[in-house]
Amino acid sequence: MRTRLDDFISRISAQRDILDYIAEKQASLPDGPILEIGLGNGRTYSHLRVRFPNRHIIAFDRENGAHGSCRPDDGDVVLGDIKETCLSYTGKRAAIGHADIGTGYPEKDAVIREWLPSRVVAVLAPGGLAVSGLELMHPELEEMPLPASVGKGRYFLYRRR
Ligand code: SAM
Repeated sequence: MRTRLDDFISRISAQRDILDYIAEKQASLPDGPILEIGLGNGRTYSHLRVRFPNRHIIAFDRENGAHGSCRPDDGDVVLGDIKETCLSYTGKRAAIGHADIGTGYPEKDAVIREWLPSRVVAVLAPGGLAVSGLELMHPELEEMPLPASVGKGRYFLYRRR
């Protein structure tokens, strides 16, 4: 029987493997910043900083709660409810948006899936990539192949049309 620990490990591995996979292709991405949608403890922020050293990374959360070793400058953190703050970034033409704001509760995640896709589309440049822990259904987002190590439905990768 799978445990929550098993699920956590496979989700986090998938997250890292997709970020590494797109880092290898970064030369083909549009110009623009990376948006870390859900800063949390800053683990993926720290990974993005190392894998994309030439990109400006802007994080979104209710607070700048990242670990001290990888805390973004306050000026690079947009505080507030992502549902609203992402809208203020409409048209910023980001190269990548990474959204890790799933809760693990199906009914709560269903509500997030109603508004998150339109926010991601609003902030991405055409050709930009969305990496997400939640499925993003939107006509402007084309699902992309995943690295072989990532099981279908474990984590998601899209390209903005
Ligand atoms: N990827 C991060 C890491 O590696 O440390 C973990 C992100 S954590 C799972 C999700 C974060 O998103 C939490 O810090 C939470 O506060 C934030 N979050 C979730 N929904 C949000 C919302 N609607 N507005 C602002 N922040 C939100």
